[in-house]
Amino acid sequence: SCSNLFEPSSFQHSTPRPTYSRKANATFLTLARNSDLAGVIHSMKQVEGRFNRDRHYPWVFLNDEPFTEEFIRCTSAVTSAKTHYGQIPRDQWVQPDFIDEDRATKARKALSKIRGVFYADSVSYRNMCRFYSGFFYRQPLLQDFKYYWRVEPDINYRCEIEYDPFLYMEDNNKAYGFTISVPEQKETTPTLWDTSMEFFNQNPQYLHPNNAMRFASKDEGKTWTRCTYWTNFEIGDLDFFRGSEGYNKYFEHLETAGGFYYERWGDAPMHGIAISLLLDRERIHHFDDIAYEHTGWEQCPDPLTPAYERGRCSCDYGNSMAVKWKRYSCQADFDAALAVPRINTE
Ligand code: GDP
Ligand code: MN
Repeated sequence: SCSNLFEPSSFQHSTPRPTYSRKANATFLTLARNSDLAGVIHSMKQVEGRFNRDRHYPWVFLNDEPFTEEFIRCTSAVTSAKTHYGQIPRDQWVQPDFIDEDRATKARKALSKIRGVFYADSVSYRNMCRFYSGFFYRQPLLQDFKYYWRVEPDINYRCEIEYDPFLYMEDNNKAYGFTISVPEQKETTPTLWDTSMEFFNQNPQYLHPNNAMRFASKDEGKTWTRCTYWTNFEIGDLDFFRGSEGYNKYFEHLETAGGFYYERWGDAPMHGIAISLLLDRERIHHFDDIAYEHTGWEQCPDPLTPAYERGRCSCDYGNSMAVKWKRYSCQADFDAALAVPRINTE
């Protein structure tokens, strides 16, 4: 049985909700290993309990290995919505052949010697970062969907989500939504910015005239703020990723440079740069009203505001990015990016 994987629910659903007549063409997206099952169930209960129990958006699960019968049975038991399970093609997961393995091994060893670098020595983490940079949106199970909402194991939604963020994206023509923004570590990405600028200098046609460059750079591209949208939460328009020639060529440029393996380029810095430079900044949305927590970092409303009570929140504002972790938040850079005067492109 799956019952040993279930924790007692920490919140009650008291108010019945209306029946919703409108729905977006959207899905939750979870990449996971079979060993992540307990954490995935935890996350699903969060999402279902705070939002999806009466919205019934489906779930897509992806894995580089076949999912076990247990994983499928236990995850499908948590939701009343449809669940889909897919295996990622090997060439979209493992280190490509053109990567010089000696150089990659040496790089991993060198990075592991630096204190405090997460996943310095891990090849599978690098596979994951490359996958989420260039391949997630090409998976057959996602082809018929327009929006995805990324869900990782062991995340928490600590307030009710009282409206439909997918419909918000649709109604406001948003292409990318985030909750938390943080700077990437220096050691994992020594040449990512210069490699990116090389691409955008050679292909300036892909830079959107009303981009959010200021999020990524304070000096028109000379140096990087290291700011990223924290990608373990993201709601995105798959048509953007699938259809953007700039995004796909930019990914190819990074892929060829090899930094996913010679360094440890993450999908967060890659998405951060791509989203900020390729999109009209008005298509990027900060979901400041979604209370979200992962690995101790959280976004939580001030309990002195009505939103806290109304959302039956159970988060600690004192621990939020706006308070305790403010020095790590890139919110000020995002706000500055949105404040840049627009260019009249009519
Ligand atoms: P962190 O949040 O950056 O510490 O990274 P996680 O360990 O949470 O990994 C990010 C996401 O990728 C999670 O959804 C993981 O379940 C998933 N993931 C990481 N490594 C692997 C892997 O080797 N195989 C599969 N299938 N999923 C992975
Ligand atoms: Mn995680």
